[in-house]
Amino acid sequence: MTDKKQNVWDMTLERLDSTMDLLNLTPGIRKYLRQPRKVLEVAVTVKMDNGDIDIFTGYRIQHNTNRGPGKGGIRYHQDVTRDEIKALALLMTLKCTVVGIPFGGAKGGIAVDPKKLSLKELENMTRRYTFEIINNIGPEKDIPAPDVGTNSQVMAWIMDTYSIDKGYAVPGVVTGKPIELGGSLGREYATSLGCVYTILSTLKVKEIDTTDLTVAIQGFGNVGYNCARILYDLGFIVVAVSDVDGAIFNNKGLNPYKVADHRDKTGSVKGYNDGEDIERDSLLTLDCDILIPAALENQIVQGNADDIKAKIIAEAANAPITPKAEKILVGNDIFVIPDTLCNAGGVTVSYFEWVQGNLSYFWSEREVKLRLRDIMDKAFYEVYKVAQDRKVDMRTAAGLLAVERVAKAIKLRGIYP
Ligand code: GLU
Repeated sequence: MTDKKQNVWDMTLERLDSTMDLLNLTPGIRKYLRQPRKVLEVAVTVKMDNGDIDIFTGYRIQHNTNRGPGKGGIRYHQDVTRDEIKALALLMTLKCTVVGIPFGGAKGGIAVDPKKLSLKELENMTRRYTFEIINNIGPEKDIPAPDVGTNSQVMAWIMDTYSIDKGYAVPGVVTGKPIELGGSLGREYATSLGCVYTILSTLKVKEIDTTDLTVAIQGFGNVGYNCARILYDLGFIVVAVSDVDGAIFNNKGLNPYKVADHRDKTGSVKGYNDGEDIERDSLLTLDCDILIPAALENQIVQGNADDIKAKIIAEAANAPITPKAEKILVGNDIFVIPDTLCNAGGVTVSYFEWVQGNLSYFWSEREVKLRLRDIMDKAFYEVYKVAQDRKVDMRTAAGLLAVERVAKAIKLRGIYP
């Protein structure tokens, strides 16, 4: 079987196991970390616009809550499975730990193509899903946020449904809310800004001059678009972007703002007048300095890893590189900034949103950005130091740091009863 179809939970466990092999952990702690704490599967029954009902499968999974409440996004995508959500929940445990924010790891999702639903159906589905998981979420328990296929409006519906059940407004039950409901300034583009900070740190440690560096970005959703926009503003040359329908290329650089206008008008980046259409997946193997996968899992696989020309890969998406592909990339001396570090800016500003909401005191956008930069830089250099000291790649280093911290939290709390 090709690793393009490799089960992402198996892949995540494979990586966890090889990280744990490098640490002196008891068999019990190893078992503990391999097992999600709680797996909830619900039938999400929705009254559709045509009067009939439809049923979608939803999940909310808490991988680990030793360091704080569960934290992680909710994904609406037709390919969502229990194993995918388990894997993403485990990655959230590592991610929150790598950046040192006091949360555990969780994730939710519904197997649905949200583009096929009307706005009313989307709202009905979100509210019913919230109702089905209501006893498992809460500001001190488990706090959802946006992910692929969800946005601040979806968070507003979750907050409203939860609040109606409680009898009072509970903004802290979700992050990534609209600003008007207690969202944080900067949350919308935080994942991308955090990713850019890790790229800047990489260029610094590698002593690479930032002038005229070229970037290719897979995915033009919230994360991909904002990465493109921020890097363009900093003077990087964004040579290619893609979405599910295709990819566009211009070796002199694309203007992401204009590409977004074109996408909003036509539904795709394809057919943009100041660039040429190229085959979608050929974006990954373009001749460029930095490659940013900002879409889904299993994109850089055994079959295309050897053709990657970028010297730096920044994982804005979760798990875009398979373990087999990673061996090839490491062999080719490609520097991979792992997802658990690279895309942790989103959950970091989610944490800021939660803190601001708890204090009912809201920060300026400047303050959010400064604090994000502090956390991302600190995490980058901590991971980099482990990588240097132990002579391992950045993913292994991030894993070592996170697993050690979580294992310590488990030991300190002890096992009940
Ligand atoms: N969905 C985002 C992630 O995968 C953000 C999660 C959050 O803010 O809780 O990191």
